[in-house]
Amino acid sequence: MKIFCVGRNYGAHAVELGNAVPENPVIFSKPDTALLKDGAPFYLPDFSNDVHHEVELVIRISKMGKKIQEKFARNYFNEIGLGIDFTARDVQSELKAKGLPWELAKAFDGSAPLGSFITLDSVFDSDKQEIGNIAFHLTKNGETVQKGNSHDMIFSFEKIVSFVSNYFTLKVGDLIYTGTPAGVGKVAIGDKLEGFIADKKMLECEVK
Ligand code: MG
Repeated sequence: MKIFCVGRNYGAHAVELGNAVPENPVIFSKPDTALLKDGAPFYLPDFSNDVHHEVELVIRISKMGKKIQEKFARNYFNEIGLGIDFTARDVQSELKAKGLPWELAKAFDGSAPLGSFITLDSVFDSDKQEIGNIAFHLTKNGETVQKGNSHDMIFSFEKIVSFVSNYFTLKVGDLIYTGTPAGVGKVAIGDKLEGFIADKKMLECEVK
C-alpha cells in the first residue's frame, strides 16, 4: 500500500508558507509506518521542536490503474476520509533551504493519522455536497484551527489521480492525502485534534 501526499494544493496555505502556487501538483510519499489508525495517539518526535498539523481530505483508490486520463479518474476512487499530514516544520525548512528531499520532515513514524472513510456517494446524499464542494475542518482542544473546502483545491481529485498515475501504478487501497488549507500550526503534548467532514466527526488524534 502506498501513501501519496500533495503539497501546496490550497492557494492560501501556499501563501502562508511563502511558497509559489505550483503549475503541477507537488507530490511526495510516506511509508506505511507513517499511518496511525483507529484514533491511535501521536507521539511527538524528539528531532523537532515545531511539528505542525495539516488536516487533509484523503481519497482511497478503489481500482488498479496507470496513466489514467483525468476524465476517467473518478472511476478509480470512491471513498473519502480525513487525515493529518504531520510535518516537522523546522526540519522541513532546513531541508528546503538545502534543496534536499522532505522525507525526514514528512514521512516519519506516525506522521499520517487516518480517520474513517465514507463513500463519495454518501457524501452527496447526506449533505447535498458535490465532489467539488466538500467542507471539512480541524479542531484543536475544541477550537477550530483549520477550515477547508475541496472547492478551493488548486488541483482536483481527478487531476491528482491522473497525474500521480503517470508515474506510479495505483493499486486498490493506496491513499492520497490531497493537501491542507490555511491555518496549519504547532502541536504540543496534550493537544486533542478532531477532524470533521461537514459536521460528521471523522478523525481523532491525541498528541502525547
Ligand atoms: Mg500536507
